[in-house]
Amino acid sequence: MSKTLAELTDKFLSGFEGCAIMEVVDSFRSKKPLVEMMSFLLGLPEAHLHLTPAECRWEEEKNANAAEHYRALGNALYDRRLTAQALQMFSTSILLAPHPPRRPYPAAGEKESLGGSETPFPPFSTEEEEEDEGKQVLSLAYANRSAMLLELKRYPACLRDIGLALRFGYPKRLRYKLVSRWARCLIALDREKEAVALLDAALEGLGSLPCDELTLANAKVSLLMVRQLCRKAASSSKGSPSFSLSAPALAKEREFKVPKLKNENRSAPALSSAVKVAYTRAKGRHLVASRDINPGELLCVEKSFATVLDSEVMGICSHCLADHKGIVIPCPECTVVMFCSLECQQEALSSYHRVECPIGPNLTGLGLPAHVLLALRIVTKMSFKKLKKADLQLRKEVETRKPATLGLNGEDKYVSSYRSVYHLNTNQAQRPDLDLFNACVVAFVLLKLLQKSGRFFCGEEGQPCTPSHEDLVLVGTALCSHVLRATCNGLTIMNHTRVLEKTLHVEIGLGLFPTLSLANHSCDPTATVLTYQTGSLMMSLSFIQKGGEVTRSYGVSHLHMERKERRALLQEGYHFLCDCRACKGDWPLFKDISNSLTLICLKCSQPLCPLSLQCRNCKIDYNKPLTKKEAKVSNRYFWMEILHKVETAKLEFTFSANPPVNYDEDEKKVICDMLRLLAKYTKHPTKIVHAVRNSLDLWLMFWAPANYFR
Ligand SMILES: [Zn+2]
Ligand SMILES: [Zn+2]
Ligand SMILES: [Zn+2]
Ligand SMILES: [Zn+2]
Repeated sequence: MSKTLAELTDKFLSGFEGCAIMEVVDSFRSKKPLVEMMSFLLGLPEAHLHLTPAECRWEEEKNANAAEHYRALGNALYDRRLTAQALQMFSTSILLAPHPPRRPYPAAGEKESLGGSETPFPPFSTEEEEEDEGKQVLSLAYANRSAMLLELKRYPACLRDIGLALRFGYPKRLRYKLVSRWARCLIALDREKEAVALLDAALEGLGSLPCDELTLANAKVSLLMVRQLCRKAASSSKGSPSFSLSAPALAKEREFKVPKLKNENRSAPALSSAVKVAYTRAKGRHLVASRDINPGELLCVEKSFATVLDSEVMGICSHCLADHKGIVIPCPECTVVMFCSLECQQEALSSYHRVECPIGPNLTGLGLPAHVLLALRIVTKMSFKKLKKADLQLRKEVETRKPATLGLNGEDKYVSSYRSVYHLNTNQAQRPDLDLFNACVVAFVLLKLLQKSGRFFCGEEGQPCTPSHEDLVLVGTALCSHVLRATCNGLTIMNHTRVLEKTLHVEIGLGLFPTLSLANHSCDPTATVLTYQTGSLMMSLSFIQKGGEVTRSYGVSHLHMERKERRALLQEGYHFLCDCRACKGDWPLFKDISNSLTLICLKCSQPLCPLSLQCRNCKIDYNKPLTKKEAKVSNRYFWMEILHKVETAKLEFTFSANPPVNYDEDEKKVICDMLRLLAKYTKHPTKIVHAVRNSLDLWLMFWAPANYFR
């Protein structure tokens, strides 16, 4: 059994006697630079002795016999027409099948070519080395699964599996089976011309097949039968085929429609032009409205810099966090990490997973929390060379640049990058010493694992190298700072799926969004955030006046928790004393909030006197109907008219959007009109405002999956 992180730490601490332990603890004071702490820890022989994780392997490794066993099970299930169960068995077989040794990993930072040439076309005529039957479990399993996918009418996934079966050496003499399946897919996808070209080329190539007469005859019959299905495009399409297999075969089964901002903020493109980044000493960098913002406006659309998938989550792509619905493309080396497409597999293998794969069993065995894995991911996404260069430069920026400009690149733009991540808050000075000790210890363990991986510390030419003490201090310090950063900036990623009539929202991982991280917390936030896969959206929940702060919730709300409790939680998790308007005014809990509406003065926002309906401050009288001329200027209103408007809007809201049903723009308009009206004329907080905001939140949660995640 491998030891968990907590066990390693205990062992490390128990190695010290009374005085010595004080000296160790003393070295982790919040005022000390992290680099000093890391250097100290790296100098302790006890750390090297006790904090080095032991050798560790996955319970199940790639194994041709096991893969063949599951493939046989799949075939048996299919004989009983249990297609879905058979599909699962074939997927397990694919997961366990050893991959051919041919370049299992592209070099760091380089993508393997995914071009059409990877797949032989026409599928019979290419010169290839003689097939070794024993090594073909992988291609056979892909071929078997493609048959299930055809039955289930999942054509793009079927095409992809056919492509993979060919790529991994499907026996030549059986390829006619794949070709007829491939053609059937094309026909189903209304691409008959391509099907005809494919079949004609295959029929022509049959002669070069290394097999007996009977097989040849069977192949011919099989291909001709599919050829007959091509009624619409019956005429032969000789000549070079104008398509390639690679496009449909390697693409994702389902593509995402990522929402777009109407106008981007030029210096921070993830933000809408209605929002800008501001800085004050008290608030640090934060987001403010650069014009009046209405409820329901899309304010931020951002892709994460790094994301990690929770280890116990099944059925989700490790790279893009899309639901792959059981159709996995596994890592060529391990049996744990799975992808939704070859594209995702290649992207992961050309960066972080290349480094993390050999140490995967350790990472799981240590029981590391998601924010630690996210910190590691930030580092493994970079090569050692790049990290070293960046860290030296960024450390200087912290000392020389104004805090307001931290994170801006050479073109004065704030974009998702290692730089903007590096300059996110760690709250080091506000943290208890124990936090820093723990962060250094976990960084030390990660550092040991990076060394063990053998794929992180590489020289100029990409060859593995032994890091110097300085290199270890540098990478260890980076890891430690990212651990701190990830705890206060990591955002939970939700998966949204529709099961029958219900939409389910489940936590599946953690992501880092440099721009969204700039939004401060409020216990009564002005915006709400939705995360999905590797992306996030932020939408305004209320009317935000120009110059007002755009805030989101870090997980606590004044509606359900007393101020004291909220402040304690925020202090512990995020290291600040919340001074939002709900905290300042010590707003009541939802159950104690007033049900009735109080009208306010348009000029000073103070409540009107309930008897005279005048503003006590400004002496403006709201108890007089407006003349036509006055109505145009609108710096005053007639209370009866406004109450009537509010009541009408309330009725419409209650009947059509509480809760939302259709998640369309009409419904959103009803909700947002109501919110705008309440924000302009009535005093906050009230129960009704929260009910309407809740509807908008729900609307976003349901609308997004229905419209974007198809
Ligand atoms: Zn993916
Ligand atoms: Zn792997
Ligand atoms: Zn607060
Ligand atoms: Zn007033």
